[in-house]
Amino acid sequence: MSEVLSKLSQDSKELKLPSLPAVAIRILDAIKKGKSFEELAKIINADPALSAKLLKIANSAFFALPKKVDSLQKAVSLVGTEMLKNIALSFVIVKHFSFKKTSEKQSGTSKDNAEKRPFDYNLFWERALTAAVAAKMLAPLLNIKGADPFTTALLMDMGIMVMYLCKPHDYTRVLEEKMISDLPIIEAEHKVFSFDHQTVGSEILELWRLPESIYMPIKYHHFPQKAPSKYKGIAELLHLADIAASIYHSHQTVNNFNLLKETLIGRYGFSPDDFDDFIDSIAQKTTEIISLFEVSTEEIRPYSQLLQEANEELGKLNLSYEQLLIELKQEKEKAERLAQQLKKANKHLRELALRDGLTGLYNHRFFQELLDKELNRAQRYGRSLSLVMIDIDFFKKVNDTYGHLTGDLVLKHLVEIIKFNIRKSDFAARYGGEEFIIILPDTDLKGAVTFAERLRDKVENISIKINKHTIKITISCGVTTYWPQLGFKTKAEIIETVDKALYISKTSGRNRVTALRM
Ligand code: GH3
Ligand code: MG
Ligand code: MG
Repeated sequence: MSEVLSKLSQDSKELKLPSLPAVAIRILDAIKKGKSFEELAKIINADPALSAKLLKIANSAFFALPKKVDSLQKAVSLVGTEMLKNIALSFVIVKHFSFKKTSEKQSGTSKDNAEKRPFDYNLFWERALTAAVAAKMLAPLLNIKGADPFTTALLMDMGIMVMYLCKPHDYTRVLEEKMISDLPIIEAEHKVFSFDHQTVGSEILELWRLPESIYMPIKYHHFPQKAPSKYKGIAELLHLADIAASIYHSHQTVNNFNLLKETLIGRYGFSPDDFDDFIDSIAQKTTEIISLFEVSTEEIRPYSQLLQEANEELGKLNLSYEQLLIELKQEKEKAERLAQQLKKANKHLRELALRDGLTGLYNHRFFQELLDKELNRAQRYGRSLSLVMIDIDFFKKVNDTYGHLTGDLVLKHLVEIIKFNIRKSDFAARYGGEEFIIILPDTDLKGAVTFAERLRDKVENISIKINKHTIKITISCGVTTYWPQLGFKTKAEIIETVDKALYISKTSGRNRVTALRM
């Protein structure tokens, strides 16, 4: 036994290389010993299922025989003994190695249960039969004679099957390696085993005593240029059949299609139309053969049909891509609207936090912030800044006379008067209960006093009508101005001064304006 095959079968005493079924051995023996056709017919007829299948295939469109074939005799006269023998062998081998996933253990060839992903025997034979059909169709076009392209191509990957059956765990690693690193199968095999399925296949077929014309080209089917000149042609044929099978049974459909197209048009003078027809008829003929071999009932759909389906899928994909874009755009707009609303809501919330609930003026806390800012500005630009503090006179009396709610409405009325009389650049705030303060940037003492006086006058002369009551109020004001050129003053000093001015207005008769310089 060769080194490679002994390596494959070592490590476990129980592990054996797969062997051929008895009927196959008998067929091979009959041919080897040059026994007559009658001997071969006897062997085949002993297996009624096999002889029925042989007649079926002889009558199939695949062989396109001119006459109906109803006996092995007739079949042989039409396809030849050699061909009949090979077809018989093919049937027997495919049947023998078409394990069902559950009966895999009982096949007796595998003791290693480590594999997680069971080998897909159906796929293996579908692919092998596709390659066999492609090889048979290509042979005359490539002018290959004196070989059996169908059987040779059918068995070219037998090494894969044998490697898997002997070392399922390791071969699963090969398949994973190939998938993950996108390595060619030969390279993935070398990484794990240090040999590949070309050698294993060739050697096991030799061991099974298949003819050299079959096992020799198989040894080179991935690298036909390395084959001995006698087998270069058939090795090249196998190589191309392998690519054709990959069009229908791999993830690299388009790549393999283009590769084969380039080769057949460039090197073998196919026309593009011939090539397309050729690829489609591989599928049609393989579907028929597959059903004869009972490997699978699966139809192999022609490449042109696959292409059409792919285009339809692509069309759907484009459509949904556009749909996706529209939806994305809508989502984006919705998000933008929401962001806008959120911004508005936040602004509103912030405003609420800054403002006094009853009057809507800035609250005390925010007044302090505002004054800091305005003082800084005045300082930086050397500008004056005035403050007017307002307090309603005898407001307690209003509450006492008309009630607290009416008092609230009076406060609101006063605020309206204040708002109406200040400039856009002024800030009015509720300083306390019935006390208000106004910041007048860029305003000197004279200007601030004029403003306070006008306001005081307005309030004094307005009659506030609430619930049939006519309420009259007056206000007292304190005014001061910060003038940076006259020296730095703190916020506290400024407020203290304006408070003092207001106090003077209160103590000197109310309903008046008092200005205090700092
Ligand atoms: P004066 O300032 O002239 O010395 O007399 P006054 O009566 O206005 O002053 P005082 O500080 O004694 O009373 C202030 C009153 O203002 C007492 C309080 O009930 C009233 N007040 C304060 N805040 C509010 C408010 O939000 N609504 C109402 N209705 N009244 C308020
Ligand atoms: Mg008061
Ligand atoms: Mg008061």
